[in-house]
Amino acid sequence: MDEQTHTYHTLITGGAGFIGSHLAEALLARGGTVTVIDDLSTGRFGNIAPLTDHPRFRFAIDTITHALVMDRLASECDVIIHLAAAVGVELIVHDPVRTIETNVLGSHSVYQAAARYRRKVLIASTSEVYGKGVRVPFAEDDDRLLGPTTKARWSYSDSKAIDEFLAFAHHKQHGLPVVIARLFNTVGPRQSGQYGMVIPRLVAQALAGKPLTVYGDGQQTRCFCNVRDVVAALIGLVESPEAVGEVFNVGSTDEVSIFALAQRILALTGRSPEDITLIPYAEAYEPGFEDMQRRVPDITKIRQTTGWAPGIPLDETLQQVIADQRARL
Ligand code: UDP
Repeated sequence: MDEQTHTYHTLITGGAGFIGSHLAEALLARGGTVTVIDDLSTGRFGNIAPLTDHPRFRFAIDTITHALVMDRLASECDVIIHLAAAVGVELIVHDPVRTIETNVLGSHSVYQAAARYRRKVLIASTSEVYGKGVRVPFAEDDDRLLGPTTKARWSYSDSKAIDEFLAFAHHKQHGLPVVIARLFNTVGPRQSGQYGMVIPRLVAQALAGKPLTVYGDGQQTRCFCNVRDVVAALIGLVESPEAVGEVFNVGSTDEVSIFALAQRILALTGRSPEDITLIPYAEAYEPGFEDMQRRVPDITKIRQTTGWAPGIPLDETLQQVIADQRARL
């Protein structure tokens, strides 16, 4: 892999998804070659349609558990960025079998293929691995605090933690070069609200003239990072030899309550600040649903290793999402 000239060949699993399609664009723009594998289960062909004529872009519609296909694609690339996963709280709560199987079996298949050709793999993990601890910011070596196995939500956290454990195991036992990025809430144009993500949902409601659905009391907080910043972080990590064998938080540190977020979206779309409906969690998800109250990353480690820091403020990101959704109407 030639980190200096950026002309290396990247295989992006889940590359037709929201983050994957932005990543593919950025890598092509830097002069790289990109192959995407995506089964279009939650990804959309429309996300990568504009790239299909590019001479350095290739697309395989297939599942990552298809061992023969993964073997060939791994043999042809220099590095793998593994984004394919079941994500979105709504999907997780309503289809936990698919979540666990997609994440655990899918990553197993990717690592097997990578190991055969000793390809570097960057794995997109998630801030969900930290669970419901409220001692923020979360640092990479912090303990995890999870709910019981009877609550489907926590299966996502554990499925991604198994992905991390398995990556570290391959690194330790076989010397496979792995890098783990724990992504915190990532937002921007093309994100679908279909699987639960709050910003595309609230923006769609605002543009449709409907009340904004805020779950619980809306005092829970998140830090939302623009997808362009996240893509820059992933590229920085994959090109950093010091990142190998390590895990990094990737996210914004600008904390906002969901209620305040809804108010900002109402203001930016010219709606009345009163147009918010509070919905109990039990009704929004399922009885007994547990949410994270706060989620803030400590991003010291990635800054020290690659120099990365997020740069795009939340209001600018919200404007981008609003413009993107308006253009699709
Ligand atoms: N949420 C909300 N209204 C919605 C969708 C989500 O209030 O229509 C809340 C959700 O309960 C959570 C926060 O917004 O507290 C972020 O939810 P999301 O699913 O985007 O990401 P999470 O951080 O929970 O993975």
